[in-house]
Amino acid sequence: MTQSVIGPGDRDLGIAYAKAGRRDRAEEMISKFDPVRELNSMRRCTHTYFRRYMLIETVLLAALIIGPFMPVLSVPAQSAAEFDIVLANGRVMDPESNLDAVRNIGIRAGKIAAISARPLRGRTVVDVKGLVVAPGFIDLHSHGQDDENYRYKARDGVTTALELEVGVSPVAAWYAQRDGKSLINFGATVGHIPAKMAVMKDTGAFLPRDNAINRLSTPDEVRQITDLIKQGLDEGALGIGFGINYVPTTTRAEVFDLFAVAAERGVANYVHVRHGGATEPGSGVGAVQEVLSDAAATGASLHIVHITSVCLRQTATCLSLIEGAAKRGVDVTTEAYPYTATQTRLESAIYNDGWQESLGITFKDLQWVATGERLTAETFARYRKEGGSVIGHSIPEEISRLAAANPRVMVASDGLIENRQGHPRGAGTFARVLGVYVREQKALSLMDAIRKMTLLPAQRLEKAVPSMRAKGRIKVGADADLAIFDPAIVIDRATFEQPAQYSEGIRHVLVGGIFVVRDEKIVEGVKPGKAVRRPLRDQKKL
Ligand SMILES: [Zn+2]
Repeated sequence: MTQSVIGPGDRDLGIAYAKAGRRDRAEEMISKFDPVRELNSMRRCTHTYFRRYMLIETVLLAALIIGPFMPVLSVPAQSAAEFDIVLANGRVMDPESNLDAVRNIGIRAGKIAAISARPLRGRTVVDVKGLVVAPGFIDLHSHGQDDENYRYKARDGVTTALELEVGVSPVAAWYAQRDGKSLINFGATVGHIPAKMAVMKDTGAFLPRDNAINRLSTPDEVRQITDLIKQGLDEGALGIGFGINYVPTTTRAEVFDLFAVAAERGVANYVHVRHGGATEPGSGVGAVQEVLSDAAATGASLHIVHITSVCLRQTATCLSLIEGAAKRGVDVTTEAYPYTATQTRLESAIYNDGWQESLGITFKDLQWVATGERLTAETFARYRKEGGSVIGHSIPEEISRLAAANPRVMVASDGLIENRQGHPRGAGTFARVLGVYVREQKALSLMDAIRKMTLLPAQRLEKAVPSMRAKGRIKVGADADLAIFDPAIVIDRATFEQPAQYSEGIRHVLVGGIFVVRDEKIVEGVKPGKAVRRPLRDQKKL
């Protein structure tokens, strides 16, 4: 940034270029022109008044001639400087400013350093003409937190994948495992479920299967769980994660008290609510009401995960509850994945007795992930004992579309791919919204879709996590996390039968100014992903 100020001769040359109609050269000269510095040096000269007169006259003349080229003056000293990377001629879409125009983006030191209608010079210049340049997608609900999953995420346009629902415990160790080793940015809440499983010595993997489901926590256990959650927040966790549905013996008081902890710490609760489906007592609507009242009474912020798979045919009612509460001052948001089926562990409490009535489906609507087969009463009983992942085809298409079209409902995957198996949402969520719901069904505008994938998730977090203010937008100073895609062809390829399929049409993806996807291929050997984390509590003491 030691751009030297050009001398009067060069300035005159710039004006001469402008007169001659050589706009490119004139802009280069004028962009280097720093009248304040020049004025200061002039003041040291003996013929002060004469030189000042000359300077002012020259500046006025330059302004007169260069006036039509003013846009370039808004990026002083940048159009001529070299950027690390220039993304040229893309259709830049920023949901915060609503910019939707052809622009050149200059990236320097991992940040967006210029957004210009004029050409920029860079050490690497990539022509992205005809492609949309959007902020990198932020997935608030990403269970897959390893290299296999980060690759599917990156190819789906995701630059930040966060485990906010189930969360993790202990928190510091989880971050340490990923620091410097991740393709994309990562982060997690401290999880009520993992804390509860540890304290109650549940034998389940990832989700509980015995003690944490079958019996109440003792008052002493609740104290230990609360201590683990507070410790996780001290270690920089992004909030508190809940899956009450998976630990249904958790009392309402236990949830309410933890919401109060979140309120005190200024973090949000990310919640899979107590029940799903339509059967009363125990409907999805009632479960949404429980956490809305906890948020209202404690002042805590609340994010309700996958609203469609919880509320099913009552999704419109649940969205009205959320919108009504938000209008009356409760800080509440929600999300959905764009699929007509759920996925979870068959041995979990969701498939306790009564599941068929509650979810409105039966054995044949369940698909065993390991083999792809549809279940029967007999295989259901056998696999539930063994334990494993199951897909439940329970969300009507019109409900999925309703949530996709709603500008308030964020896009989040709830994805997890393990050894190429899982739910297609782990690989295709974002491209599916862009391809199916924006392009094919015209259920929402492209800008609204981008907003639901970028700005809204960033805003959900930024009150508690200041670093998120630099994500989810395209503006000077923002992190150069970018998704560049072809809106005419972008589409998901992952299916229930073959979930491990990369999305198509996401051409380039950058994380912190580093290409992680280039020409629809993963760039091997780069690990630019950074931890998204709250400032550590004890940093003040250090
Ligand atoms: Zn989930």
